[in-house]
Amino acid sequence: MSEISLRDLRHSYVANPTTDADWALKTMSVDWSDGGAYALLGPSGCGKTTLLNIISGLITPTTGEVWFGEREVTDMPPDQRNIAQVFQFPVVYDTMTVYENLSFPLRNRGIAAPEVDRRVREIAAMLDLGEMLSRRAAGLTADGKQKISLGRGLVREDVNVIMFDEPLTVIDPHLKWVLRSKLKELHQKIGVTMIYVTHDQTEALTFADQVVVMHEGTVVQIGTPVELFERPRHTFVGHFIGSPGMNVLPCAVENGQALFAGQPVPTVHPVAHRDGDETLEIGVRPEFVSFAPEGIPVEIAAVSDAGRYRIVDARHHEHVIKLLVPEGEALPAGSAHIAFDPGHTQIYADGWMVD
Ligand code: ATP
Repeated sequence: MSEISLRDLRHSYVANPTTDADWALKTMSVDWSDGGAYALLGPSGCGKTTLLNIISGLITPTTGEVWFGEREVTDMPPDQRNIAQVFQFPVVYDTMTVYENLSFPLRNRGIAAPEVDRRVREIAAMLDLGEMLSRRAAGLTADGKQKISLGRGLVREDVNVIMFDEPLTVIDPHLKWVLRSKLKELHQKIGVTMIYVTHDQTEALTFADQVVVMHEGTVVQIGTPVELFERPRHTFVGHFIGSPGMNVLPCAVENGQALFAGQPVPTVHPVAHRDGDETLEIGVRPEFVSFAPEGIPVEIAAVSDAGRYRIVDARHHEHVIKLLVPEGEALPAGSAHIAFDPGHTQIYADGWMVD
């Protein structure tokens, strides 16, 4: 096992890239520490699979380097990288039994039979496949087959990294939660670096210690789920993570004071003067907006029930600001005022948080 380091990486599928849009991955450097549980999170087309394929060696990056520990592997083929990969759809041998499927990656590498047996039974037990080891894979449901795929990825002890590319896509919704928690548990037990690719924030936030958020070929933030929630470095992180996502509102700055639609918005520190043509925005999550005796005047435009709280759409002229109100707390009738928690109100310039 070793740390994986991506250095000044860029990738284009176009022969002679010229514009920004020609780059599927824009310049990035990312270190994945040994034994970490990572999620690679972003919407369809942001470059997740491209990045995964560069780590596994299926793609050679246009520029930049890939290092595994002290060794540069940029041009090394996948079979020499010592990586396990689990794909969206099950990769199983239908004619083999569950046991044979799980033992295949080990037997293939010449591991002694008793060791193979120990490992197969251990992984099968963790995935609740213990009772069906002698059954043929052909007879299993899609869920069962994907569990075998997961098992085949997890069974080797000597890998540098296990990569999961949207592995729960074919899994029945009620089993998704079970398998997700199982994977987390397995990571804690076996301690191998894992990278879990998904466009689903719930999957990412429940599995990972560190979430790598991608947007249009760029890594916009790497952080713990709490960091992504409390201090989104980019407005994209703010609205992609959270439900509902962060309110992003137009901002002006006068003498260090942030203003929204002419109304002062308190921040912890004065906002430094900014030059140029940057677009300034205020970001505040609905969790940190509340009704107040004074503040920004609003009309209540809509209320929806989300169980333990209600999501209120408060309108100030053409802007809608969402806030959460706990179940049972009275809502003001008609006109009201709202205030933002200064400790959780951030200013963004061209999408990036201003420190
Ligand atoms: P998805 O979740 O839909 O798989 P993704 O985040 O994994 O999306 P990629 O598949 O890495 O994104 O795609 C990133 C960009 O590169 C997209 O614009 C995509 O159209 C483009 N792309 C991906 N593979 C190829 C290819 N083989 N040839 C040309 N362009 C490609």
